[in-house]
Amino acid sequence: MQARPVTLAEGVSHDIASRADRAAALWLRQRNVPLALERPVVSFTFDDVPDSAVTNGARILAEHGCGGTFYLAGGLADASFGPWRFFSPSDVSLLLDQGHEVGCHTFSHPVVQTLDRARLTDELDRNRQWLTAADPRVKLESMAFPYGSVGFFQKAWTADRFTSCRGVRHGLNVGRVDRAQLRAVQLYDCRLDAEGLAEIIAETVRSKAWLVFYTHDVQDGPSEHGCSPALMERAVEAALAAGCEVLPVRDAMALAGESKLPQSRAA
Ligand SMILES: [Zn+2]
Repeated sequence: MQARPVTLAEGVSHDIASRADRAAALWLRQRNVPLALERPVVSFTFDDVPDSAVTNGARILAEHGCGGTFYLAGGLADASFGPWRFFSPSDVSLLLDQGHEVGCHTFSHPVVQTLDRARLTDELDRNRQWLTAADPRVKLESMAFPYGSVGFFQKAWTADRFTSCRGVRHGLNVGRVDRAQLRAVQLYDCRLDAEGLAEIIAETVRSKAWLVFYTHDVQDGPSEHGCSPALMERAVEAALAAGCEVLPVRDAMALAGESKLPQSRAA
């Protein structure tokens, strides 16, 4: 199957049945784990990984001594979409060398909600094979749903294979968090101004929460799904200045308390 880009959710159906299925997944398929944090945590995550997410996003985090989580879909490697060129296979090793986490974003970036179990399994297996061929050090523990879209059945199937799965439902993760559909906040220049950034960091500190940012390209004049290097720097520096730990998703999940998390078997 050819990989379909990317952030545009035109493949996500908005009919009543599909919306009800997503709502059922969100509210009825939770895998809640206690997350008792000593300090608030901020994670920076990147979906699809245009090359600027590596050259700028990974670099900015590394310069601050921090790691991020990069959700890669092997089928997008070396592909182009509009103004974007995606990561290259060699970027997998580069990201690991810099201390970042490589996560799973399926292989061909389908709408997960539309997949039966066999096709979903194939997407996850194929991506694992591609990523471990690119670098055998890859150990997939974290997953993000393309378009943030997942249904009632697919949510349970993916939760069985990963320590965490991230959606795009806006919000902080606090208290008992749904590791099968982590909440997230857009790190997009067009959505988050300086005031908004200060507010969300302050709220993260106040509620001792885990804030998971997500973005795509990281470049001057970013797309509507991306951020500028300046916003990225401001966000990292604001998180650190506020006393937050900045951790890859995998490391934040490791702070989950007494819960029994699956050993990402075969994922
Ligand atoms: Zn994506």
